[in-house]
Amino acid sequence: MSSTVAILFDASKCTGCKGCQVACKQWNQLPAATDFGDAPFSGSYESPVANTADTWLRVTISETDAADGTPTLALGRDGCWHCSDAPCVSVCSSGACHRSVDGTVTLDQSKCFGCQYCVAACPFKIPQFCSRDGKAKKCSFCQDRLQHGRTPACMKSCPTGALSFGPRSEVITAAQARAMAIRETFPSVEVYGVNQMAGLGIISVLPFGAAGHRLPANPQAPLATKLENAMAVVTGVGVLGALGVATAAFVGGRGSGYGEEQYSYDAVTRITCDGDVPMDPQAPIKKADKLVSVGLKSAQTPEGEEV
Ligand code: SF4
Ligand code: SF4
Ligand code: SF4
Repeated sequence: MSSTVAILFDASKCTGCKGCQVACKQWNQLPAATDFGDAPFSGSYESPVANTADTWLRVTISETDAADGTPTLALGRDGCWHCSDAPCVSVCSSGACHRSVDGTVTLDQSKCFGCQYCVAACPFKIPQFCSRDGKAKKCSFCQDRLQHGRTPACMKSCPTGALSFGPRSEVITAAQARAMAIRETFPSVEVYGVNQMAGLGIISVLPFGAAGHRLPANPQAPLATKLENAMAVVTGVGVLGALGVATAAFVGGRGSGYGEEQYSYDAVTRITCDGDVPMDPQAPIKKADKLVSVGLKSAQTPEGEEV
């Protein structure tokens, strides 16, 4: 089995420029909120105020004070955390939500039929239902880029080095070293994601601690999801499955039994909730000429060219 990967988000280096947020939209062809009805003023620098089927990553911005009293910003990342123990996967009634061998959690649009179990199950409220095509949407960890040796679009666009990418074990080591280095300036600093939900695929250095960046210290699946999973173990089908809701898809496809070898991800098919203007779902993406190895921070071709 290949090793798992992770993104390192170092909030102490983030300036809140939202380059990552824009890059996510650009790469995934997600339309922006077009008027103030879609993105009303929230009383903060954040926009939009919540993730939607068309916004898979948001920069969160909380006004706070540094240890010496200086007004500053606690910056955060609101997107899928790619949980090791992912409730969205365990409840998925069609097998659309699944965890890949590299540890990323993806949502296969060809299998999603819009039951919204994942929407209800996620402790971070990440998957969002798209009423235009009746499917759930969320960050894909840029699988189409990873499969061609490229790094995630959000990470690639970050101008300050607040985002990097690599094997999860190396990312955790780098995060812990960074936390130690800034502890004097930020006494509340925490490394977030090592243990939450059995380990997240986004490891964060949070200068103001989890609460200061509006993250739950100990995220939990909703009680209904836990009961549903427990019933699935007992009955083999789950509560709603036993009631006959979507039984054919449900019985055959719960995410907990869904193997990587059964899953095929179309590397060039867009998974976009595209608004009123139809997009070509087969629109090609530019591929790397050759496969490259992926390392911490960036990927390089064998000739040393950064991609
Ligand atoms: S953050 Fe939510 S959507 Fe993402 S893997 Fe975890 S449970 Fe699933
Ligand atoms: S990994 Fe890709 S899909 Fe996920 S937030 Fe970053 S740019 Fe968006
Ligand atoms: S691109 Fe980098 S610096 Fe800008 S908001 Fe995103 S993480 Fe922060």
